[in-house]
Amino acid sequence: MSEQADERWIAETLFDDLGFRMTFKVDKVLCELRTEHQHLVLFEQKFFGKMLMLDGATQISKRDEFVYQEMMSHVPLFAHGNARDVLIIGGGDCGIAEEVLKHKTVRRLTQVEIDVKVVEFAREHFPEFTGPAFADKRFECIIDDGAKYVAGTERRFDVIIVDSTDPQGPGKVLFSEKFYAGCKRCLNKGGVLVTQNGVPFFQNNELTSTMTKFRKLFADATCYVAAIPVYVGGHMAMGFASDDRRLRQLPVKTIARRYRKAGSFKTMYWSPEVHVAAFAQPRFIAEAVARAKAMPRAKS
Ligand code: SAM
Repeated sequence: MSEQADERWIAETLFDDLGFRMTFKVDKVLCELRTEHQHLVLFEQKFFGKMLMLDGATQISKRDEFVYQEMMSHVPLFAHGNARDVLIIGGGDCGIAEEVLKHKTVRRLTQVEIDVKVVEFAREHFPEFTGPAFADKRFECIIDDGAKYVAGTERRFDVIIVDSTDPQGPGKVLFSEKFYAGCKRCLNKGGVLVTQNGVPFFQNNELTSTMTKFRKLFADATCYVAAIPVYVGGHMAMGFASDDRRLRQLPVKTIARRYRKAGSFKTMYWSPEVHVAAFAQPRFIAEAVARAKAMPRAKS
């Protein structure tokens, strides 16, 4: 690929250990800095629009953010059915917060994000997410390490959404058993935990590792999938843990009824049918989940 001298290409380096990179031709760098926690670059890209990268890993692209934000919020909330207190760990761009706040049952949404710079610049560059979130009195954003927060808070939640970076840098601790145990401690009876668990085609061990830890803590540990174009490698896995297996086996008609009750707000990827189908795992993903089955569960 011949590059003009003034062209800039930014590479996703998340898969360097696998020997490949996805690179994006940059139209304009909007912001690039090293925060206290990570390297942050926000740039305009011809096809994907605004893109955010943290420590060389793509976080969000304007063009396809709806897939991930909708699936990480509406699946746990409609599976739960009556979530009133919700916690987001990470989620700096507030895309998920904006989706969660569409649920009228939600009485309070707390977001714990480690990097104030991500929130500050999201307020400047992603007002379409941060605007509605910060305008909603149910929303509060706490700047703290999510692992520390779940270990120490007295608050309890019906749904916890871990919208983290990948297991590197500040995000690494959000894939630890100690963190998941902290989440379990903060969940109300009937609560649901969902986690961003990477693209199993490239990050298979990450999924098995999370499932192994979930199985020690929860009666039901599985994942659901969604295809997110900018997260290269096919399906992305979203970890799903609860103590009630029925929550992830609800039929379309139940999810559709809950969606109607919530006001059938507009979505571009999630639907009651997609919700149910997302738990149908491609065989190689089901095997990665099954490999964790053998682990003994911790005494609750
Ligand atoms: N949607 C993106 C994805 O799938 O990769 C992730 C969105 S969001 C940008 C990820 C957020 O997690 C970042 O803002 C990052 O600062 C935050 N984060 C990383 N480690 C954290 C920690 N230990 N506690 C709280 N937030 C953390």
